[in-house]
Amino acid sequence: MSDAKIRLYVEHPLGQGQSVPLSREQAHYLFGVMRQGIGAQVLLFNSRDGEWRATVTEAGKRGGTLVCAEQTRALQMPPDLWLLFAPIKKARTDFIVEKAAEMGVRRIVPVQTEFTNAGRIQQSRLQAHAIEAAEQCGGTYVPEVADMVRLDRALAELGRRQIMFCDEAMVGASPILHGTAGPWAILIGPEGGFSERERKRLVGLDSAHAVSLGPRILRADTAAVAALTLWQTHLGDWR
Ligand code: SAH
Repeated sequence: MSDAKIRLYVEHPLGQGQSVPLSREQAHYLFGVMRQGIGAQVLLFNSRDGEWRATVTEAGKRGGTLVCAEQTRALQMPPDLWLLFAPIKKARTDFIVEKAAEMGVRRIVPVQTEFTNAGRIQQSRLQAHAIEAAEQCGGTYVPEVADMVRLDRALAELGRRQIMFCDEAMVGASPILHGTAGPWAILIGPEGGFSERERKRLVGLDSAHAVSLGPRILRADTAAVAALTLWQTHLGDWR
């Protein structure tokens, strides 16, 4: 019996005796790449029902079936934190999505700012990265990756959610995070930084807290990881 180290995200409901169909890609991965077959044990999660140990009952080239045996972990929701970031180069954008999924966020929102140079993103590819990250880090929840929206619209959608506005103009100040527990969003700008108009708009919002990330200007991907660390230690589930 394998010790069920392979973890797969599925959309299907999970529960005692529940059978779960595999997609073509999952069947290829499990039976082709990982050389598993009937009787193999796999851990499944779906962002709702926690993690379940399941056994392969059908294995084919284009699909397969698993049956849930027992719940191995309860659902662990990340804190109500969204990451808003301006997409940069492809590999660095992938990195940001992967790290955000590992470090614990509910939602990832690519935003188009004035100085954002990535014209488009491939939402489905980024979502697949978030799934893969959750599978490998032992998470039971996959953050949703939204389609890219303009900064103005993204801010409107935040409602009263507090914003940790990572402002490169604050470089050199101590990284202090004010604000209270509750729903939050982290905002990271593009390589070109925020425009003066955007900065003015953000500083004028009651819900926004401008924050420094230390004495050096960080690349956006580094800034995302640093900001997530700061937020998680002060207000999140690292405390
Ligand atoms: N080109 C800009 C820097 C952009 S860095 C300049 O030279 O000023 C990309 C993003 O990372 C910034 O928009 C900000 O959100 C974040 N960032 C990087 N370093 C930071 C710092 N020291 N303090 C706060 N935010 C920072």
